[in-house]
This record gives sequence, C-alpha cells and structure tokens, in this order.
Amino acid sequence: MAYDVVVVGAGPAGAVAASYAAKKGASTLIIDRKTEIGKPVRCAEVVASTLPENFGMKNTSEWLINEAHYFRLISPRGRQVKINTSPYVGYVLDRASFEKELIWMALDDGAELILGKPVTKLVKDGVAMGGEVIRAKIIIAADGVDSRIGRQAGIETKSKIGMLGSCAQHTLVNIDIDPDFLEFYLGGSFAPGGYAWIFPKSGNEANVGVGILKHHKQGAVKVLENFIKNRFSHSQSTRFVTGCVPSTLPPKECVKGNVVIVGDAARQVNPFTGAGIANAFVAGKIAGELCGTVAVKNNSLENLKKYDSLWRTAFEKKLKKSYRLRNKVLVKDRNIELFCVLLKIIPAFILRKLAKGLHY
Ligand SMILES: Cc1cc2nc3c(=O)[nH]c(=O)nc-3n(C[C@H](O)[C@H](O)[C@H](O)COP(=O)(O)OP(=O)(O)OC[C@H]3O[C@@H](n4cnc5c(N)ncnc54)[C@H](O)[C@@H]3O)c2cc1C
Repeated sequence: MAYDVVVVGAGPAGAVAASYAAKKGASTLIIDRKTEIGKPVRCAEVVASTLPENFGMKNTSEWLINEAHYFRLISPRGRQVKINTSPYVGYVLDRASFEKELIWMALDDGAELILGKPVTKLVKDGVAMGGEVIRAKIIIAADGVDSRIGRQAGIETKSKIGMLGSCAQHTLVNIDIDPDFLEFYLGGSFAPGGYAWIFPKSGNEANVGVGILKHHKQGAVKVLENFIKNRFSHSQSTRFVTGCVPSTLPPKECVKGNVVIVGDAARQVNPFTGAGIANAFVAGKIAGELCGTVAVKNNSLENLKKYDSLWRTAFEKKLKKSYRLRNKVLVKDRNIELFCVLLKIIPAFILRKLAKGLHY
C-alpha cells in the first residue's frame, strides 16, 4: 500500500491533520493502535465553544453534554473568584463521541483508517506495522505525549523530569454542584504546582481531577483521593483515568526529513491550563494543509520546514506567555493568592483580552 500522507494517531491532532491533507487531494491514511476511536477517555472534556464551531463540527447533540458560563477559582486561603466567560462558553464534552465525529469528518474528506494496529517503526519511505510496510511520501506523527515516531525521526520528543504534568481523574455521580461553573482549586494543599478541577456534566455528575506539575510525595492519585474525600464524601465513581500532559515548551524543531509532529507529540499544550485540544486542532490543520499540498504537488520535502514557522506564528507566543505565568503563579501559594486578588479587581473586558493572549 502507498499513500501521499500517513498519519500516526487518530486523536484530535491526527484526525484534523488527516482531514485537511485529504481536502488538498492527498491520498491519506490514519493508523491508530486503539480498537475504538476516543476510548479510553483520558480527558477532563472541556473546550471553548468557539473551537468546534470554527472547525465545522455540527453534530453537537452527539457530544455536547453541558455548557458552563462561569469559572470559579478557589485560592489556597479559600478566596473565591467568579469569572463570567461570556461571550465564550465552556463546552463539556463526551470526548469519545467528539473524536468519533472528527474521524467521520476526515473519512468524509477522503481519508482512510486502520484501527487496532500500532505503528512499530519508521522505515525508508514509510512506516511499519509489525511486518507490514505502508509506503508514504510524508508522515504526520500525531502519536501523543513522548511521540515515539517523532523520536525515531530524530526530533527531541522525549520528556525529561519536570516536563510533564501528572493527572488523575474520577467521573463522579451522586454529587450536588452548579452545572454552570467550571471550578479550579489552586494551591499546594489541593494540587501542588497545578490545580484540581470540577467540570460538571450536570448538576449531579462531574469530571473531578487533579494535575500536579511538580514532584509530590503522594502522587496525583492520592492527591485526588484526598480532594474527593474533603469535597464529595458521598459520591460514587463511574470512571477513573490517569494520564500525562506535556507541561513545557515544544521542541526547537517539529519537522525532520519527511516527518512532521503535531499535537501532544509536539508538546503544543498550554502549560498553564494543560489544555491541548484547541492547539491540536490549529496545528493539525496547518500540518495537514501543508503536507497535503507538498505531497500532491511533489514539492521538495524542504518545504515541510514551513510547518515550524506557520504553527509558531499561530500560537507559540501564547504558549510562552502561559509557561511564564505558570512558573510565576502556580509555584507558590502566596503568588496564587495575589493572582486571585488581581483577578477580582481587573475589569472583565481586560480579563477577556488577557485570556485571549494566552489561550485559543
Ligand atoms: C487527565 C487529562 C485531562 C485533560 N483534559 C483536557 C481538557 O479538558 N481540555 C483540553 O483541551 N485538553 C485536555 N487534556 C489534554 C488533551 O487530552 C491532549 O492535549 C489532546 O488529547 C492531544 O491530542 P493528540 O491528538 O495530540 O494526542 P492523543 O489524543 O493522545 O492521541 C494520540 C493517538 O495516537 C495513538 N498512538 C500512539 N502511538 C501510536 C502508534 N505507535 N501507532 C498507532 N497509534 C498510536 C494513540 O492511541 C492515540 O489515539 C487532558 C489531558 C489529560 C491527561
């Protein structure tokens, strides 16, 4: 089998990249080791409402579970900051269904899909799945955190100590919450170096998790247990997940030869919030369009280097600002307290402008 573009990984980055490569007329194949798209879910399942709209996702009823119009931040000393996110809305998703729609969109655009087979290595002019070789002019590595495919191409994708956030999350039922609020608990006693979150699916169900960004003697699972014991002592868990999220800046190069890395593989995750879906969409589109065009026109692979300048122009400044903010604010309870005081006094329209400078 031979394709213009092979995409390794059918997460958000891979699905969007494949869509846009196929739209350019490139024969495109997506390969994922999972047997079912979107499962298991390793996500707190929140995106800004503008994201799916901007990327033409229409089947809202399939994946939109809840809409939240407020953030509530809780500081180490219990100070509460309520932020109206208007005109933006926080969409709480059924992420598995959300990913399924993305893949259907890629298939509608002409991409093909193989599930249940891991790509084992890069080979000359293609990829291998065990003994089976698939030839490709260009390979998009959308294979997530610590991208093995990117590493094989010679890109520095391995995370060193301190470059990853460690997360644990329960989906809880039998709780009593306001579904209009996404809650963030900041400070060492909740989640050292990161935050604990409550993202409601309804008034009695929520994703409740922690992401800790520095070494903690108890680890994310224990930190989460303590948080739940204090906050939701009578709840039941219907799902438990652990996972890692990049919490540093992307590598210096995201292209090598005929390989381009995208999404978590390229650490294109907001280091302050740990959110990566929006950037995976934006970078996926850029990578897909460029790779599709280069492959169809048989242009020199040197042209792929444009990917690095294109995605960096689109959002690298936001990642750098968020990284600096994380290192200033989240590391010390005193700084978090001050941050929350400032959030309380800064007018809403300025807050919105500042947030736009950090996030999608
Ligand atoms: C607990 C947790 C909560 C999160 N919550 C949010 C949130 O609320 N909002 C948000 O925006 N972000 C969130 N994130 C981050 C977000 O999930 C990621 O940024 C996003 O999934 C990145 O998409 P991706 O396509 O790059 O990678 P992934 O979604 O990780 O997809 C990679 C795909 O590659 C496949 N793969 C890997 N290796 C191979 C191989 N060798 N062969 C074939 N297939 C392979 C995998 O099976 C997988 O399907 C969270 C992360 C965690 C861990």
